[in-house]
Amino acid sequence: MTRQLKQADAEIYTELAGTKCSCGRRKGAGKSFCWQCWCKLRSAMKRALYDERGYCESVRQAKQFLREREAPSARRRCKWCSAWSTKLCDGPRAHNPAIVSHQRKTCDAPMCDEHAKSIGPDRDLCPDCVKALAPSPVPEQGRLL
Ligand SMILES: [Zn+2]
Ligand SMILES: [Zn+2]
Ligand SMILES: [Zn+2]
Repeated sequence: MTRQLKQADAEIYTELAGTKCSCGRRKGAGKSFCWQCWCKLRSAMKRALYDERGYCESVRQAKQFLREREAPSARRRCKWCSAWSTKLCDGPRAHNPAIVSHQRKTCDAPMCDEHAKSIGPDRDLCPDCVKALAPSPVPEQGRLL
């Protein structure tokens, strides 16, 4: 461990105790991020932030993720229409052989609200994954009430 690393860790803890999120918005003292930033994180990242071991590293990764997300180059259009993507698919990558270049475990297809199918809090599937994960051609459900 170098001194510099410790210094960086100390900064992270100072930030944690403060009320300013790295994005500039206000956050609660003791919280890693403001609510808006927190909502953008992937569930695995949120989980990592609850783990005290490797906390600083998790924060750094989360910040990096947020920075990339905010960068204009990271703004992508929905894969299925021309709207800006607001979500990334959380489906298993195995179901989308088109995306194998990066080591992410999820499909990560960019999609707009309309094309995202929510399958739980902070979990959304793209149309491809919905199809891939469906047991078999599912007949339209509901509308029987
Ligand atoms: Zn923030
Ligand atoms: Zn769309
Ligand atoms: Zn997908």
